[in-house]
Amino acid sequence: DGKLTDKDANGHKKKKAKPNKNPGGTFQSLDLYPSLLRALLLRGFRLPTPIQRRSIPLALAGRDVVAMARTGSGKTLAFLIPIVNKLKAHSERVGARALILEPTRELAVQTAKVAKEVSKYTDLRIAVVVGGEGLEDQFEAMAGNPDIVVATPGRLVHLIIEMSLSLSTVEAVVYDEADRLFELGFAPQLREIQHRLSPNRQTSLFSATLPSLLVEFARAGLRDPVMVRLEAEG
Ligand code: ADP
Ligand code: MG
Repeated sequence: DGKLTDKDANGHKKKKAKPNKNPGGTFQSLDLYPSLLRALLLRGFRLPTPIQRRSIPLALAGRDVVAMARTGSGKTLAFLIPIVNKLKAHSERVGARALILEPTRELAVQTAKVAKEVSKYTDLRIAVVVGGEGLEDQFEAMAGNPDIVVATPGRLVHLIIEMSLSLSTVEAVVYDEADRLFELGFAPQLREIQHRLSPNRQTSLFSATLPSLLVEFARAGLRDPVMVRLEAEG
């Protein structure tokens, strides 16, 4: 009879609609490719970190993203989740479809390891291209038609020249630890790589700091990027 009550017809207490204290919610609420979601959940990742919560929906929507957040805030999954979600499965078409640039061999190996974990239930192929490895092994890795290439800029440029490697098939590129990429003097190699990428690619840049040099690089090389800055909180 229209009387206000906190009980439903069966006398149970009605649930109050709570304000969402966790906007962006869980990984489940992101509508991810099932094999990717499965790998995240089985690996124990359930709630995105603040930088993941802010940047993943933008990248999933196809935007270029510049993300700044401190070390340890979860930037690796922030860029890997949208990439695996975009590629989904191995493609027989020749040529890498995603390129992740890292400042050091150790970071490249570590990122490739996380990429393998999150794509465990897919047939995506991942190759690591870093200095210090025999060139022959890397020719072989590239000949295996990887979907995702994780590389340091120096060795990648070397391979581009030696193998006449084309980057025109790359749909998504990530500059990870971008401040360190520049500190280590990779600007010429990054420009060389950028010139070979398709203008239709999606680009993201992740960094702990955003010096003006990086902001300029992002303005020139990214398409109307969205800036996501998390200062102290994460
Ligand atoms: P960054 O690149 O920002 O320095 P990482 O991507 O290396 O940080 O992540 C730091 C740590 O946080 C790693 O051990 C990673 O496994 C963990 N991590 C990342 N995302 C999550 C998450 N959503 N839930 C729990 N742990 C996470
Ligand atoms: Mg990192």
